Amino acid sequence: KENEMVKALREAKKNQSGRNIFDSIVEKQIKVDVLYEDDHCMAFKDVNPQAPTHFLVIPKTRIQMLEQATDEHESILGKLLLTAKRLANERLPNGYRVVINNGPEGCQSVYYLHVHVIGGRQLTWPPG
Ligand code: IMP
Repeated sequence: KENEMVKALREAKKNQSGRNIFDSIVEKQIKVDVLYEDDHCMAFKDVNPQAPTHFLVIPKTRIQMLEQATDEHESILGKLLLTAKRLANERLPNGYRVVINNGPEGCQSVYYLHVHVIGGRQLTWPPG
């Protein structure tokens, strides 16, 4: 039992630090529905939308999670939010939600920083 636990923890750690699906998306090895792209960031539709509109904005250089961001990421963090706002503003005039899931209890599943933009229906609060 303990061995299984150690194995599961090691696996989780590997998933948090290694390459993952968003690296492949940035490198164009996996096709996504791209909404916007520039030298620094990329926005694409979420494959499993939680609302009529659900897209993600990611930096082109991987940051595992918000927790790993430092002062050197100040500019890219700003760009992610401004890109999210601009794309949302064009699509979701009645409002929307911007979410960053961080870590296991934050429900993060892909360890490559991404900003969710969700809208197109009345959202509720608090989230689950
Ligand atoms: P997280 O739970 O905050 O880490 O969100 C990861 C998001 O990435 C989820 O909403 C997934 O549906 C989404 N996702 C995972 N793989 C892909 C993909 O290949 N294309 C688009 N979205 C993806």
